[in-house]
Amino acid sequence: MRTDVILLRFGEIMLKGRNRARFENQIVQQIKRVLKPLAKAELHKESHGRMYVELNGESYEEAQQALSKVFGLLSISPAIKVAPELAALQEAALVEMNRYPEKPKTFKVSVRRVNKQFPHDTYEMHDLLGGHILQHVDGLKVDVKHPELELHVEIRNRDSFVYSKKVAGPGGFPLGSNGKAMLMLSGGIDSPVAGYLAMKRGLRIEAVHFHSYPYTSERAKQKVIDLTRVLADYAGSIHLHLVPFTEIQTKLKESCRDNLIITLMRRAMYRITEQLAEKRDALAIVTGESLGQVASQTLSNMNVIGRAAEIPVLRPLVTMDKLEIIPIAETIRTFPISILPYEDCCTLFVPKSPSTNPSLKVVERQEAWMEWLPEAIREAVEKTEIMLIKPEEKSEEDHLF
Ligand code: ATP
Ligand code: MG
Repeated sequence: MRTDVILLRFGEIMLKGRNRARFENQIVQQIKRVLKPLAKAELHKESHGRMYVELNGESYEEAQQALSKVFGLLSISPAIKVAPELAALQEAALVEMNRYPEKPKTFKVSVRRVNKQFPHDTYEMHDLLGGHILQHVDGLKVDVKHPELELHVEIRNRDSFVYSKKVAGPGGFPLGSNGKAMLMLSGGIDSPVAGYLAMKRGLRIEAVHFHSYPYTSERAKQKVIDLTRVLADYAGSIHLHLVPFTEIQTKLKESCRDNLIITLMRRAMYRITEQLAEKRDALAIVTGESLGQVASQTLSNMNVIGRAAEIPVLRPLVTMDKLEIIPIAETIRTFPISILPYEDCCTLFVPKSPSTNPSLKVVERQEAWMEWLPEAIREAVEKTEIMLIKPEEKSEEDHLF
């Protein structure tokens, strides 16, 4: 019997060492989650760590699309599963050779024989399969050095697999396998990309957004909810913390030097995010900062701002150009939301010439004068609203594209 399956491959780090069982658990959870809408698809595990999805009539394209959201998956292959018997393998080899519209002129067969009981050794199998294909497919030649198509045959104990295509997966680490961090999520282009890269590196994230209602609108808030929803596609759900920042921003504006307001605002944001991190058992802050991109992201500002938090601040985009960031935003589909015009809280308070080289001493002195600040920070943390954001349900129409 021939069965359509998808073979799954994982990064090396996942297959070795002490963390293997934990990594495997985490990735299995994610695979099962993304495959849920494909009700008949089933995840199987062979001995020796080979995992595959049995499609049972579900569409390969939809399954591939779903699996592209699972971090830790290195690559996948659409494959045919048959019993480890010569006749079945020969038949599957022909099916695979004729499966795709582009017809190769040259090919080679690569056999992996895990099942040592199988009556033919690897060399015999090359001949038995290669010969059978040459006999039944016209216009084909063997080329062992640069074949247009490489037919892979894996002979295992219970089943064997035949495939010829490899599709890259998203790579990275299984979600949550490296712990949890708080993502500072503005409505801009950069921070959603930073959140995606953090998740790809195995971090579960919770998003933190600072809003300055009524200076910022409901629509600006909706934009951040929508961005979180897109990111939630990779995680199942994401908590979004909405921090009321109006009071702190207004008071800072009244009481500090105009060119330092951004630096002081960011320090307050870091402090609030750090307190939220502690409450939520997260060990780091993730931001969308990129070195030198704007005045507040000079090394000098990063130094002064970064010192406001004691936990690590991770900046996945720190060395990237805007031209490298935008294609990622487009691929993960946050870009069209990010470029909607609704202002986030900072644009309203941007001074004419923000300092690019603030003095830590001056900044600390200014903060020391602001006796109200620690209490205002505590209050902002207390009044933070938490939402649980889930991915958008796929409607029938979505499936058309
Ligand atoms: P982005 O495109 O992510 O908005 P940016 O290039 O506009 O970034 P800044 O506005 O200087 O840069 O913000 C730097 C980082 O600070 C952001 O990437 C984000 O992580 C964080 N941040 C800025 N504003 C907010 C906000 N209102 N709420 C949460 N985090 C914010
Ligand atoms: Mg911004």
